[in-house]
Amino acid sequence: MRRFENTIFDEMTELATRHGAISLGQGFPDDSGPAEVLDAAVAAIGRGDNQYAPGRGLPSLREAIAEHQRSWYGLDLDPDTEVMVSAGATEAMTAAILALVEPGDEVIAFEPTYDCYDGAVTMANGVLRPVRLSAPEYRFDAARLRAAITERTRFLILNSPHNPTGHVFDDQELAELADVVIEHDLFVLTDEVYEHLVFDGHTHTPLSTLPGMADRTLTISSAGKTFSVTGWKIGWLTGPADVITAVGRTKQNMTFTNGTPFQHGVAAGLALPHERIEAIGHTFQERRDLLADGLTSLGFDVHPAQGTYFVTADIGGVLDDAGRSEWDGMEFCRRLPELVGVGAIPAQVFYADPDDPADPRVRHLVRFTCSKSARTITTGLERLAGLR
Ligand code: PMP
Ligand code: GLN
Repeated sequence: MRRFENTIFDEMTELATRHGAISLGQGFPDDSGPAEVLDAAVAAIGRGDNQYAPGRGLPSLREAIAEHQRSWYGLDLDPDTEVMVSAGATEAMTAAILALVEPGDEVIAFEPTYDCYDGAVTMANGVLRPVRLSAPEYRFDAARLRAAITERTRFLILNSPHNPTGHVFDDQELAELADVVIEHDLFVLTDEVYEHLVFDGHTHTPLSTLPGMADRTLTISSAGKTFSVTGWKIGWLTGPADVITAVGRTKQNMTFTNGTPFQHGVAAGLALPHERIEAIGHTFQERRDLLADGLTSLGFDVHPAQGTYFVTADIGGVLDDAGRSEWDGMEFCRRLPELVGVGAIPAQVFYADPDDPADPRVRHLVRFTCSKSARTITTGLERLAGLR
């Protein structure tokens, strides 16, 4: 694991804390989620429900997850065999990768790539093969995917809505992806943690709902984003029973089980009426608008996110303190807390080779989170106005 450094999220959050900066870096809200969710966890603690949950998760939560997949997406799952609870989506992803990757196997992920996939594939002695999404739209290119497939390719990872670009894979992209997967007899892990944070009328479609894909897809999600409880670390996996069993064998040797009272809270959240969950998405859309419009009026070239907690901006036009333009995003983010009191994340960390000529803008792209309250975003923007 030597090539892995301290994660960028810890580095930038620590830097922001040290300088008393407003963190628009690591994605987490500064307010908590629906009262019903919080109250259900508090009630569980109060009534003494504080011991180990079953390894696969509380039956009531597994039923709530199965019902969520049915009522939102029409998927029919057995809560006893096709659903498992995990310590966040991160553990779900890592346990799945450790269960499914043999040494030397290749795993394809779209790039820019969320960081935890590479770590897990490396722990499994596999190799992560990034396939670039096409900037500036970040759409998926089937020819590029086909070219990356070898006889060692084991499965691919699809993250939609996508961190950091905010791209939501549309039905045409998903259909093309499913065609490639079926043609090459592959399997897919999907990371759908932002499934309810989609904006402007875009819709999230789980890949497993496409014809022929239910048996080829392990779907992963998490309560952290939807219910603004990122510190609870309650995630889940749904998919074919044999794969869930295999992943259960790795998960039982990682955490075995976690967060019993929080599992009660999340079961209450998943049972909320659809309108309530849609309203959460609308709140984050308003925050996205506030941040994206604010950054645009400050002169940044902003990529309009279709979903997620994030907005990406090109800082190419901003001058550094020596008056030079073409500021490197990493350097910019390391100086920003001290210069104006704001934290951000350089998008280059999501790329294996940020200098690939395929997209010369990568080094100038900076990810800001729109997960914060309007007040925090507004203050962050006022501070950013202090840049040259
Ligand atoms: N996948 C993506 C794309 C994420 O952005 C994150 C972080 N929020 C995670 C997984 C991790 O989710 P969790 O906190 O539930 O482990
Ligand atoms: N997913 C969050 C982000 O992208 C952070 C999660 C983490 O700190 N690992 O900002």
